[in-house]
Amino acid sequence: MNAIVVHYKELALKGNNRPWFIRHLVRNLRAALGGLDVRSVRHAMGRIEIELRPGAEPQEAGDRIARVFGIANYSYAGRAPRDPGGMAAAILADLGDRRPASFRVSARRADKSFPLTSPQIERHVGGLIKQATGWRVDLAGPELEVFVELMMDHAFYYFGKAPGAGGLPTGTGGRVACLLSGGFDSPVAAYRMMRRGCRVLLIHFHSYPILSRASQEKVREIAALLTRSQLRSRLVLVPFGELQQQVVLLAPPPLRVVLYRRLMLRIAEKLARAWRARALVTGEVVGQVASQTLENLTAIAQASGLEILRPLVGLDKDEIIAEARRIGTHSISIVPDQDCCQLFTPRHPATRVSLERIEAAERALPIEAMVEAAVEGAAVEELEFPMIKYAPGGSHGGSGIEH
Ligand code: ATP
Ligand code: MG
Repeated sequence: MNAIVVHYKELALKGNNRPWFIRHLVRNLRAALGGLDVRSVRHAMGRIEIELRPGAEPQEAGDRIARVFGIANYSYAGRAPRDPGGMAAAILADLGDRRPASFRVSARRADKSFPLTSPQIERHVGGLIKQATGWRVDLAGPELEVFVELMMDHAFYYFGKAPGAGGLPTGTGGRVACLLSGGFDSPVAAYRMMRRGCRVLLIHFHSYPILSRASQEKVREIAALLTRSQLRSRLVLVPFGELQQQVVLLAPPPLRVVLYRRLMLRIAEKLARAWRARALVTGEVVGQVASQTLENLTAIAQASGLEILRPLVGLDKDEIIAEARRIGTHSISIVPDQDCCQLFTPRHPATRVSLERIEAAERALPIEAMVEAAVEGAAVEELEFPMIKYAPGGSHGGSGIEH
């Protein structure tokens, strides 16, 4: 089997924008497969065909494809001639050690002018496989489902489908900026926005050198993992310790956490606007901690003129943890570190802060200058996955999109 057939999310990609979505998806798949021995990635009749060379690592190719957004499912596939006899022969030759008690053939015709209907193809090909193997046909609950797809000049066959990451192709949803801590929540929030097709700028506030570099290392690791999905990321590391010290000197302890968050939002807004991002993203959840009461969330949000998206707002912690496990950030987030917010955090933060009190406290602070200093001191890191670009070899390589 030297092909991978990718099916995209049909419903999401309907309408006039469809070719544009598909172009993004093809481009992203090419980027994701960079450095592997791929002959071509092309769109043909409602699916994407990836042709692998003998040297390509199919497992690795599949692992990478599984993270690309906009995909419903994908399958390792073989090519066969278009007549039922040719299809059955190719399938039988490729069965390996598959010995199911029951099977069925499921056919789809991309080429609707093919003289046999899908049920006729299923019966023909299924009959030949049954003859050769003696396996029982079970249409409702087969142990093995053999898929065939009729293209214009060949057929694909494959045994089962692996689930894709779903969502929309990266780059189709515009830009947003996510405030990324090393905790469990914000990486999941960033992932959810990526899955909706957004390119996500990652912004982390750290208190180095007052605290260790641990939070930065964690966030770098999280960013690298998330970059396997969005393929290119910008990570901005913002020094925040000195700002916190200023807040500690000049503001009442119960207000500190809300003041830190408002500062973070202002700084993030500046960085986001410079990057032409349209919204800020946080991992906030109503009621999760003292700083996340509805009152505090609104008082915090007032600091920014950008839309604030909170993709986790109504989730329970265990739901977030389960998702963190699924996407792979859990094992990174669980490593203890010294988060900047634990630093100078009062024992009893106010749970219901009025905007008036906050604004009064902020009048004692040189907010503008603090924001400027943080933006000035920010360090930018660019991440890319994979490091090697897609470079199709041979004269047939990299053919363009077909509609
Ligand atoms: P998380 O698990 O994402 O850290 P949390 O439950 O610890 O969230 P808070 O610490 O109150 O919640 O943070 C709320 C949100 O503020 C985070 O989800 C994140 O978006 C942002 N945030 C908090 N600390 C930082 C930081 N050091 N750098 C960037 N963003 C942060
Ligand atoms: Mg946190």
